[in-house]
Amino acid sequence: MSDQQPDISDLRRSLDGVDSGIVGLIAQRGRLIAEIGRLKEHGTSAIQDADRERQVLAGVEAVAADLGVSASLVHRIFRELIGDSVAQQARHLAGAATGRLRVAFQGSAHAYSDAAARKYLAARGAEGDLAGYGTFGQAVGALLAGEVDLAVLPIENTSAGSINEVYTLLREHDLFISGEETWKVDHCLAAVQDVPLSSLSRILSHPQGLEQCAQFLQSLPHAIPASYLDTAGAVAAVAAMGDPSVAAIGSAEAAQAHGLVVLRHGIADSQDNYTRFVVLSAAATPVDVRIACKTSLILITRHEEGALLRCLEILSGSGHSMTKLESRPRPGRPWEYLFFLDFEGNAAEPRTAAALDELRLAAQYVKVLGSYPAKALRHPAHPGSLPDAPAAEAPADTLEAVAADGATAGHRSRQYRLVDRASRAADTLVQVGDLLVGGSGFAVMAGPCSVENAEQIAATAKFVRDHGAHVLRGGVFKPRTSPYAFQGLGWKGLELLVAAGREIGLPVVTEVMAVEQAQRMAKDADILQVGARNMQNFDLLREVGKLDRPVLLKRGLSSTIEEWLAAAEYIVAQGNQQVILCERGIRTFENATRNTLDLSAVAVVRERSHLPVIVDPSHSTGQRRYVAPMAWAARAAGAHGLLIEVHPAPEKALSDAEQSLSFGEFAALMSQLAAVPGPSRATVKAPNANLP
Ligand code: PEP
Ligand code: MN
Repeated sequence: MSDQQPDISDLRRSLDGVDSGIVGLIAQRGRLIAEIGRLKEHGTSAIQDADRERQVLAGVEAVAADLGVSASLVHRIFRELIGDSVAQQARHLAGAATGRLRVAFQGSAHAYSDAAARKYLAARGAEGDLAGYGTFGQAVGALLAGEVDLAVLPIENTSAGSINEVYTLLREHDLFISGEETWKVDHCLAAVQDVPLSSLSRILSHPQGLEQCAQFLQSLPHAIPASYLDTAGAVAAVAAMGDPSVAAIGSAEAAQAHGLVVLRHGIADSQDNYTRFVVLSAAATPVDVRIACKTSLILITRHEEGALLRCLEILSGSGHSMTKLESRPRPGRPWEYLFFLDFEGNAAEPRTAAALDELRLAAQYVKVLGSYPAKALRHPAHPGSLPDAPAAEAPADTLEAVAADGATAGHRSRQYRLVDRASRAADTLVQVGDLLVGGSGFAVMAGPCSVENAEQIAATAKFVRDHGAHVLRGGVFKPRTSPYAFQGLGWKGLELLVAAGREIGLPVVTEVMAVEQAQRMAKDADILQVGARNMQNFDLLREVGKLDRPVLLKRGLSSTIEEWLAAAEYIVAQGNQQVILCERGIRTFENATRNTLDLSAVAVVRERSHLPVIVDPSHSTGQRRYVAPMAWAARAAGAHGLLIEVHPAPEKALSDAEQSLSFGEFAALMSQLAAVPGPSRATVKAPNANLP
């Protein structure tokens, strides 16, 4: 019966056979991709190769043309397949996510953040348990407390702009960006029944949702907009109320989950409304250099002309394109700004690492928030393509050109790079309020060894201010040789010190002894002192290096100048360039003085480093009658200032009584030093100085 037509079920069976064949071929393709991935594991070639992709597409389109198949259909299918292969290889290089990830987001189930977090996990082939939190701060709190592995928070929206609260959290906490995700926001209007829009009396949504649908809402003058905590919560509330005259603006997914009817899709003013999310973790996660990455950082520029431009030139000059620059006010520093900056690059790549080092030198403070696989790159034609051979060598005049030998004249040390004079010819000026420490200025920091009570610190503060001191000192956590000696007033003492400083208008410096004290102390103290005994407490150095506060680093009791500068490097390498060195005497065989003031260190440090260096004639001599002569000598040797202990009744001081100057002695010293020019002052911009 050869003329019998095959019936439809036969044809469908044949079609099913062809379809399984296609899937089988896709599986075969996947195995080849995996093999290529394993080869790339040991090489340096980027996993995404734009030229190779173009070749593959051209090849299959040519085959399609031969077979009379639509080239554009084949193009679309293969784009998807290639995208999947790249994701597969990236997953392989990143290492498969182990176990289920616990992920925090802000809002309730089905919020846009929830959807974005799920999309992020799906792309990584990871499983997760998602938990919604009331606020961004609570989501971050859960991350820092170790209750979740990741927090997915929105950072910017293409129509509403940056989400400032998230930027503030990034600045205030020890957080890292380990990924990003984008989500197309499609606002819908949903209600419990299919009612005419004219019958609506109230519309609930998150303020952002209401703002993004402002034009649509204007077309419904009888419906009153009402703010809600989040869009998914607004949808849930409408479902719970059951009132057909109330509607919510949210996602179609949320409406469906709560059994609402979508009255209108796509009601946002702009149809291209995307939100970018950052994926936060509590530790930095290095990413394989073959995965196209973005790096995010917080930058505070130096107090120099053209400082921001110089930083941007470092990035563009090293072939890194910037994808975002956001300026935010610096809390507690009126008319000063910090910048959030994103650029294409991976800190694990030598080229990017060298640029970051240069940036650290050019800026006052750099906090690298992380390098993470890029989602939204600016050059869609070459998504993620990296240069074939990343330049492993930085240009000769940058930091990589470290000489092999150590401490010779015109020397470069192998122990430190960023604090090396060879890396920066100009003196670093450390800004404390409007005071600049370093350069040609001479700054005097004075006050008691320890804060003892309110009257003592207030009286000393006023006296030293009236006699020309620029910074008020006072210890509150005291490193004492004996555990039975006075240990300082602790946090209560800090309160007294800060109050006394504010009262008389001087910034304050006090010693931080432990890692756990640093963040809290940085909120109120203007300069954090790392004492001689802690000069090589590397955890403490790293911790103050992460903070945006000037650090006074005293020389260790028996540390060489090279060790001291290497300790400063610990701080600077973390991003905080605001280090003031302090020579305070070293242990020698000589016992006529408490320590031996190594004044030659001032000359050596000024030659070897661009950091400012001051002298402490109090701890170095241990006896008040030697303080004034050594203060003079320090000035003559080229120090950038002094740290001096002063007490209203030195003989009654609870610590370092013998070396503390009386008010009279301090006044006499300062009047003699008055012949010396004071420190430079920063020009603080007037409120409207930026306006044309
Ligand atoms: C101090 O300045 O209070 C102090 C304890 O100094 P050092 O760390 O130099 O001994
Ligand atoms: Mn002291």
